[in-house]
Amino acid sequence: MTWQPVVGLEIHVQLKTRTKMFCRCANGFGGGENTQTCPVCLALPGALPVPNRIALEWTLKLGLALGCEIPKRAVFARKNYFYPDSPKGYQISQYDLPSCVNGRMLVPSSAGDHEVGIVRAHLEEDAAKTVHVGGRTGRIGGAEHSLVDFNRVGTPLVEIVTGPDIHSSEDARRFLQLLRQTIVELGISDAEMEKGTLRVDANVSVRPAGSAELRTRCELKNMNSFRFVAQGIDAEVARQIAVYEAGGEVVQETYDFDASSGALTARRSKEEADDYRYFPEPDLVPVEPPAELVERLRGELPELPSVRIRRLERELDLDRALVLVTGGLDRLYEATVAAGAEPLPVANLIANRLATSAGDAVDASQLALLVGARDRIPRAVLDDALSHIDEPGFEAAPYLAQEAVSDTGELEPVIARIIDANPGQVAAYRGGKEGLLGFFVGQVLKETGGKANARVVSELVRERLGA
Ligand SMILES: [Zn+2]
Repeated sequence: MTWQPVVGLEIHVQLKTRTKMFCRCANGFGGGENTQTCPVCLALPGALPVPNRIALEWTLKLGLALGCEIPKRAVFARKNYFYPDSPKGYQISQYDLPSCVNGRMLVPSSAGDHEVGIVRAHLEEDAAKTVHVGGRTGRIGGAEHSLVDFNRVGTPLVEIVTGPDIHSSEDARRFLQLLRQTIVELGISDAEMEKGTLRVDANVSVRPAGSAELRTRCELKNMNSFRFVAQGIDAEVARQIAVYEAGGEVVQETYDFDASSGALTARRSKEEADDYRYFPEPDLVPVEPPAELVERLRGELPELPSVRIRRLERELDLDRALVLVTGGLDRLYEATVAAGAEPLPVANLIANRLATSAGDAVDASQLALLVGARDRIPRAVLDDALSHIDEPGFEAAPYLAQEAVSDTGELEPVIARIIDANPGQVAAYRGGKEGLLGFFVGQVLKETGGKANARVVSELVRERLGA
């Protein structure tokens, strides 16, 4: 039987507001443990929450970018649970009346746009950070004791819940890349998985291909990169298929995925919503965003990554468009093409040779000059130029002046020497192994200290060996 994976994602995004969600403590890294706290976020008796207006606006903005409807009224609710990372004994979240509902994101794929439903996006406060000391894994099992840092408690967190619309680990990864880039461009979060400002849980089930049923799902937690999310999904899909094919049943469970070993470890059975005894937060009034505010925020949205991918795909191809846009490099690409460089070489050079962080600092007109000269200047000079191109005041001119050696009179003796020194490779090349051309060109470049024009060398070598 063929099986189809069914995946829904829950994504937590830590907003980079200046202050926390319900108090005026600083939000962010820095400062020693337990220094960014006050009576409100430590839940001392009598302290009352005041919502952060910027966090509310940013949640709406994200919801609008994800095509959500903004209900006229959202209500904060208490989600009751007891744990050392939650000093109040509950978390302020949104429950049946969230800030954003019914959105969708279009994920471009070679088979057309893949639509992922956004069930809801709501605003809540984060828990404190627990550190488990001793033990092998840094997790609670086997630890000697645990410490709590309350700097993170009460920081604003948006939770985004997708529908069960994702059917492969590759689609999940692509969706997350697009979502992350959208969040970063809205300027509301750094959305970095390594820092925990973007966290992803995956709900995974499988079903016979062609069926529409939703079977028992398991939840994967603790994956700290998009690659690990994809690996975790693949591992869980394989596990569930094996259970069904052995005649068993999948039991609802939460797993930690350990990327280094590929192992899935069961955690605890998931609480049902009833266990949290949700009720409206009595210390906060409902949130009723005025229509003018929603329209203003909608008007502030930039052109979204998925739209730009479709636009770039027309002049490049889908893969290059995806790399450029999700790497935040497509604006540099467009500016460089506008400055007169050829699209494909620009795309390749930016995607393969520039770091994502370099994008904004590069002067497109200087990059266009380098792209135009890429076959005329030595490879080593081009590399050197690219390593400095994001520095302020970078000028391409001095690099362009270093023309590569294209003079056949100068190159031919070197080529002859290399050919004489490698009779085995020559015979293999003549016997049909044409891939060895690169070997000869590489040897000549090495011999000339990288100064030879690679295109001219390759023509000369081919001519000589073809004889
Ligand atoms: Zn505080």
